[in-house]
Amino acid sequence: MIPFNKIHLTGEEITYMSKAMQSGKIAGDGYYTKACEAIFEKKYGFKKTLLTSSCTHALELAALLINIQNGDEVIMPSYSFVSMANAFILRGAKIVFADSGPSDPNIDLKKVEELITPATKAIVAMHYGGISCNITALKKLADKNKIYLIEDAAQAIDSFYGNLPLGSFGQFATFSFHETKNITCGEGGLLVINDKKFAKRAEIIREKGTNRSSFIRNEITKYSWVDVGSSFLASDISAAFLYAQLNKLNNIQQQRRKIWNRYYKGLEHLAEKKLIKLPVIPTNAVHNGHNFYIICKSRKIRTAYIDFMRLYEVQTQFHYMSLHNSTFYKKKHGKRALPMAKLYQNCLVRLPLFFDLEENDIDKIITLTCRFFLNVDHTS
Ligand SMILES: *Cc1c(COP(=O)(O)O)cnc(C)c1O
Repeated sequence: MIPFNKIHLTGEEITYMSKAMQSGKIAGDGYYTKACEAIFEKKYGFKKTLLTSSCTHALELAALLINIQNGDEVIMPSYSFVSMANAFILRGAKIVFADSGPSDPNIDLKKVEELITPATKAIVAMHYGGISCNITALKKLADKNKIYLIEDAAQAIDSFYGNLPLGSFGQFATFSFHETKNITCGEGGLLVINDKKFAKRAEIIREKGTNRSSFIRNEITKYSWVDVGSSFLASDISAAFLYAQLNKLNNIQQQRRKIWNRYYKGLEHLAEKKLIKLPVIPTNAVHNGHNFYIICKSRKIRTAYIDFMRLYEVQTQFHYMSLHNSTFYKKKHGKRALPMAKLYQNCLVRLPLFFDLEENDIDKIITLTCRFFLNVDHTS
């Protein structure tokens, strides 16, 4: 079976993890945590970064930082990961789900505009598959309405829009190092703080509401409880693992983009014949090969395709179930239809994409995909 995903080990993870162990310091905010944060700040120019235990926790940290209160409205795409909504619901927000765009699963700018009310506190946008959403226009819209913009860049490490890395547009951005992402440490995340005035408080919230980080830097003589907080730190063992992966990031991204391009070239003719749709990369956007998806004409065709591929030992996967239509949120969302979110829920399917995927396997997947779509009955 060709799996959908397989983690890539650089070989250096164990070296740095041993070093962390030998140092005797393996709790959070240690040597490798700082080393990882320094790489992100230097390489991408992020003003301040904090390594966290997950992207979910980084989102929760962002919700705390912008003081979400009962009744605040937060706009986000329905076709997205559940953590994006939970982080704000935990603080009492009302989630206002927006539809995806017609050409890609990212949030539809035009729909966002219609959903802004005096109660809107923030827009949370994600970059699906590491492909930039309409981030500069969203930024303008957020600024004009004096609301926060948060980028869920969980899938978008080392992706760009224009000259700027994704994660540098909103007041905050979050990244994930879950094993399904381009680089990983099992579980881990990062909060990017682009408005420095939040930096100190972010550090305090991550450290259980105490000013321990200042104490460690010898800025104060004792530390105490100064704010609300939680424990959002990643262990330095995780950070050491991540450090090894970060050092090989360029290599990893290059390989993923190469696989992505091979798929695109091999399947382009199916899109030209309008048998499927392929990802659309906006002009000025550089993506990171996070995933490769195709959009089928119907749910029925997608199911048949997934079954067909499984028969030939290839694991493909559909993706999100729209959040607005979930068991938990359906009633709260009400009747407002989000047809594009539904379309991606029903028709999008992802192909295997991981560092060690071999060329003959990619070609096998392309050949099978062509065979399926050139023969399937498209009226069904
Ligand atoms: C993976 C992912 C997350 C969650 O990341 P964790 O590190 O597992 O918490 C959040 N949002 C999006 C868009 C993701 O793809």
